Order: sequence, then structure tokens, then C-alpha cells
Amino acid sequence: MEPQGLESIRARLGAAEREAGRAPGSVTLLAVSKVQPEDRVRAVLRAGQRIFGENRVQEAQGRWTPLREEFEGVELHLIGPLQTNKARAAVELFQAIHSVDRLRLTETLARLAQERGASPDLFLQVNTGREPQKAGCLPEEADALVARARALGLPVRGLMCIPPEGEDPVPHFRLLRGIAERNGLPGLSMGMSGDFEAAVREGATHVRVGSAIFGDRVSAPPAATGA
Ligand SMILES: *Cc1c(COP(=O)(O)O)cnc(C)c1O
Repeated sequence: MEPQGLESIRARLGAAEREAGRAPGSVTLLAVSKVQPEDRVRAVLRAGQRIFGENRVQEAQGRWTPLREEFEGVELHLIGPLQTNKARAAVELFQAIHSVDRLRLTETLARLAQERGASPDLFLQVNTGREPQKAGCLPEEADALVARARALGLPVRGLMCIPPEGEDPVPHFRLLRGIAERNGLPGLSMGMSGDFEAAVREGATHVRVGSAIFGDRVSAPPAATGA
């Protein structure tokens, strides 16, 4: 996708809020900076953006530890899968985690929250498309996971989903919203570069936009296939 820049995405987000009858500024824009070259990230910081999404703990640590010394008020959200053995590093770095998807991880996060006297805001990820390769609990497991996370005292703010590629995302957004409503959860982390306006119409409170702000991600070369 061609980069349209932060200004244009902010304008489109504002228009989507208006059209959906939502209050201006009610949807939080996460600029997804994973794998983006540092000069692009700096440009977006200089333009005033302070909330960023990253999908890997170590990559985010390496990038943001120095950048945070330079730019004040940066808020980091983890949007990629979290391994239990990286949970400690994650809670130290991130203000929100959108990818909580299993009991064992909630238990680890609860133990860390006790220890530190604080926890990032949590979103539980739901695999609305039931894709085997994708993280997230199944839709029918979500109520129990919410209840368990709450019983552990964790600050569960909402739900997150990543609809299957190439499918109409709207049924997935609606499924997620339904689960959130019946559990009394206000937050909905849904919508990316290709579908954030539709997500706003369906009630998103957090949209995660990468390539439409920064340009295509520079991907690693494909792995060599034998000799
Ligand atoms: C990469 C990523 C995004 C951003 O994707 P774009 O299509 O570049 O906007 C959003 N959410 C998650 C979970 C991601 O991994």
C-alpha cells in the first residue's frame, strides 16, 4: 500500500468518526511501526504521533529504549503474540497488550502485576475466523477467559481481532463487538490499513494502522530452500 502519511490517515479517521456519529477523537490511532525503518518512525514522531503498535517484544525494546529518551510521552502497545517467557519484558515496556489469548498467560501477567503493583491495559485477542495458524482464543472460549482474567484482578479493557485476509471483515468486527457487549467490555481493538473506516463504523475504539501511514513494510528476504 502507498504511504499516505499520518495527516491523511488522521483526516480519514476523523471523517469516519463523524460519519459514524462518534465523538471526535474517540478512536485511538495506533501507528504500527513494526519492521519500519527508523527514519520513517522519527518522521511520524516529529509529526506529533505518540501511540505506537509493535508486534515483537525484543524488536520494540531495541528501537524504543533510545527513542523514548528523545521523545517524551510515547505510549507502546503490543499487538503481536506474547510468549510467556517474554511477559516480564513486555509488561515493563508496554502500556497496553492487545494479544492476551490464554489462561497461562493471564496467570503469568497476574503474578507480574502483583509483583510490580501495576499492569498494562489488557485486550483479549479472539480468533474470530478460527484460523489454526492465528493467535487468539476461539469465540466460544472468550467469556471464560474474560471472567478468569477479571478474577485474577487484571485490567481487561477490551477485545482484539485480526479478521482473515481476503474476507469481508465486517462479520468479524460484529462478532467481536457482540462478545465485548455481553461481557461489559468497552474497548474494541479492530481495523487496520485496509479496513479501519469499516471498523470505526462497527464500534472500534482502537485502530492499528501500519502501512497506510509508513509505507510497505520492508520484509526479510525469503528463507533459502535447500541447496
Ligand atoms: C501489522 C499489524 C497491523 C497493521 O497492519 P497494516 O495493514 O500495515 O495496517 C495491525 N494489527 C496487527 C496485529 C498487525 O500485526
